[in-house]
Amino acid sequence: MTMPIRFSTFLAFTTLLAAGANPSAHQQATPASMERQTVPAAPVEKPQDTEVWEPVPTVVTPGANNTAPPSDAIVLFDGKNVDEWASARDKSPAKWIVAEGVLTVNKTVGNIETKRTFRNYQLHIEWKIPENITGTGQARGNSGVFLSSTGPGDAGYELQVLDSYNNPTYVNGQAGSIYKQGIPLVNPNRKPGEWQTYDVVWTAPIFKADASLNTPAYVTVFFNGVLVQNHFELKGETRYIGQPFYKKYDRAPIKLQAHGDPSEPISFRNIWVRELN
Ligand code: MG
Repeated sequence: MTMPIRFSTFLAFTTLLAAGANPSAHQQATPASMERQTVPAAPVEKPQDTEVWEPVPTVVTPGANNTAPPSDAIVLFDGKNVDEWASARDKSPAKWIVAEGVLTVNKTVGNIETKRTFRNYQLHIEWKIPENITGTGQARGNSGVFLSSTGPGDAGYELQVLDSYNNPTYVNGQAGSIYKQGIPLVNPNRKPGEWQTYDVVWTAPIFKADASLNTPAYVTVFFNGVLVQNHFELKGETRYIGQPFYKKYDRAPIKLQAHGDPSEPISFRNIWVRELN
């Protein structure tokens, strides 16, 4: 008969210990009026506090598909003519070949560039390596999209165009590279004879009044819908030999390359740009 008494004593003792070890037991003893004096009231936040209603984004009508120009695009080539383009050498009329809705490089007349100039933009351009392409390495369907043309010849920032379907070369010179600077993240090339797409976001470099660099150029490139350059920071203009460096400019044309290699000339189509500022 002694066991229940001992057990109840033990229970009472442990309950006291538990109450002493629990700080909330003391807090519960604090009067509610003192709580209000020492703890500032939390501001009451509402869902509406973080809603932004203006400025309202401009309405843009998308193209019939995701490669067609949206309503605010400047169409640079729609298959009909090269009115938006000029010789990069002397600004004379562009003499590349337009036939059956396609613009084909004329290697005898050199690079062409847009008559308009741009700073920051989104660009869509499609290109095709001929099915019967010959040559190897850099001499197999070489062309390029100069994202800013800062002078005649190959002056500027080149996004490489090349047959890299099954054609080894230095990886910072394959299709989708920022030539001699940015290796593409992956190789999503289609085979010669098939149309390929570049979708580019170009952020131009900004220069100080003394011509030194303020902020570098950045580029994002989707190649056949696959990300190959992800906000890549450029070190300067493209250099065939030596390290790249920046040279002050403001707005610049977009240029297409007539490369001097003897392989069959490549073609472009459906070129449009949206200015970003
Ligand atoms: Mg090239």
